[in-house]
Amino acid sequence: MAIYQRALCWVRRDLRLRDHTALAAATRQAREVIVVFVFDTNILRQLEDKDDRRVTFIHHSLKEMQARLAKKGSSLLVCHGDPVLDIPRLAQELKAEAVFTNRDYDPYARKRDRIIEQKLKIWDVAFHSYMDQVVFEYPDIVTRQGEPFKMFTPYKNAWLGTLRPEHVAEEKPNLKRLAPVKAFKEWIDPWDLESIGFKENNLWVQPGEEGGRAAWRKFQKHIHRYHKDRDFPSLKHGTSGLSVHLRFGTISIRDLVRFAMRREDEGSRAWLSELIWREFYQTILDRFSYVVRGAFRSEFDRIQWPGKEVHFKKWCRGETGYPLVDASMRHFARTGWMHNRLRMVVASFLVKDLLVDWRQGEAWFARKLLDFELASNNGGWQWCASTGCDAQPWFRIFNPVTQSKNFDPEGRFIRENLPELAGFSNTHIHWPHEAPESEKEKAGCHLGKDYPHPIVDHAVQREKALQLFQDVAQTAVTQTENS
Ligand SMILES: Cc1cc2nc3c(=O)[nH]c(=O)nc-3n(C[C@H](O)[C@H](O)[C@H](O)COP(=O)(O)OP(=O)(O)OC[C@H]3O[C@@H](n4cnc5c(N)ncnc54)[C@H](O)[C@@H]3O)c2cc1C
Repeated sequence: MAIYQRALCWVRRDLRLRDHTALAAATRQAREVIVVFVFDTNILRQLEDKDDRRVTFIHHSLKEMQARLAKKGSSLLVCHGDPVLDIPRLAQELKAEAVFTNRDYDPYARKRDRIIEQKLKIWDVAFHSYMDQVVFEYPDIVTRQGEPFKMFTPYKNAWLGTLRPEHVAEEKPNLKRLAPVKAFKEWIDPWDLESIGFKENNLWVQPGEEGGRAAWRKFQKHIHRYHKDRDFPSLKHGTSGLSVHLRFGTISIRDLVRFAMRREDEGSRAWLSELIWREFYQTILDRFSYVVRGAFRSEFDRIQWPGKEVHFKKWCRGETGYPLVDASMRHFARTGWMHNRLRMVVASFLVKDLLVDWRQGEAWFARKLLDFELASNNGGWQWCASTGCDAQPWFRIFNPVTQSKNFDPEGRFIRENLPELAGFSNTHIHWPHEAPESEKEKAGCHLGKDYPHPIVDHAVQREKALQLFQDVAQTAVTQTENS
């Protein structure tokens, strides 16, 4: 039964109309619902690249949403400004009695939403927020003592043990309740990318809800092989490629979990486990928000990283002389996306070979990743740098050449992204520096000119990394013993 005459549904990272918790609640509780999106200038101002792919993705997804709303006789209301001012202003001007939204757990978003809720209260406008981005949020999954889990496996077991079909039931909005466009036409300003100071970028992925559904339908045919294929970057459907859709909510997490939980095969189980990692890191960020500034295991903040700026720059450009690292970084520069195995390889290389502070790599990914997710990016970097909770032990160091041989055995990914090495054999493409002169000549690649010599020696750097960690770990043990 409707209790409000009119409400706003403020969409942020949930750019779809299907299976949408806040929109379903709004259209249950209000006679007329206006869907609103704010290009948040506090966020946009911090984006360094004017052709930021994420803004292009949002732009196209909003256009698609707008077209779908128009078919229902309504419209999307788009603003460009500070939501702290815009949302209360719109609620007042449009005489909305309530604002409905899905929760966002990033520290900035939480603070922003708290302020907006307080402001709305002054005007007697209700603020309703819902869990939608995840299946479980803190404190749904906690230890017996009521504490957040710090290890993934017990978290995952508790998550799976709690999951019931009702947790992932579809949240169906009643689109008949969308406000007719004539009711708010005068508030609609024309908008495009240029008007908000950005320009179009090429996307490798189809944006919007339709893009999300198409990618999901494709992956469903491959999900049973996920446990076998997921580590091989050259396989087209080895992983789902859905991270960007999860990031912007152009697909519903409930939709994915509903499908995976019905299946018994190993591939689906392994894939569901990855979706749980996403929620695990979300909880870690939520409960231990200091991780955005430093190590989860704070003893590792004492490491003085000796890495050089020039090496960091070469890593960013894919000019380290380590083919798999360079192929990954160049592919990343072109697409804004990277396969999980490669994220691990390049992150490990930056931290444990180049000895650069993991936060520099984290920031570079945050700037360039199309699927950038604060919680997963921070969690991923801290895992690779061995500073996080349930992370890779510090004494385990990836050998980038072995990784290349194991996960790109025929060098397909390298060939695709480093054409200058394409002529090397499967044996030497992973480490062309030691190829016989005749092979170098045949490959038409002059090392040092067409492709760089290695900027560091892995064996030497490995020892230095072990020493750095050992010194800190040793001091931590001594301090604990003395306390
Ligand atoms: C250094 C580093 C940085 C990362 N930064 C991000 C990031 O900013 N945003 C992001 O979404 N993922 C991040 N990840 C996790 C992972 O690499 C990506 O989620 C994955 O590569 C996305 O591809 P996919 O959608 O094909 O994944 P699939 O293998 O199909 O997995 C399905 C979904 O599960 C989730 N997922 C998978 N692996 C992980 C993981 N290790 N941690 C958390 N969630 C996971 C993602 O939402 C993903 O879309 C990072 C990993 C590392 C090592």
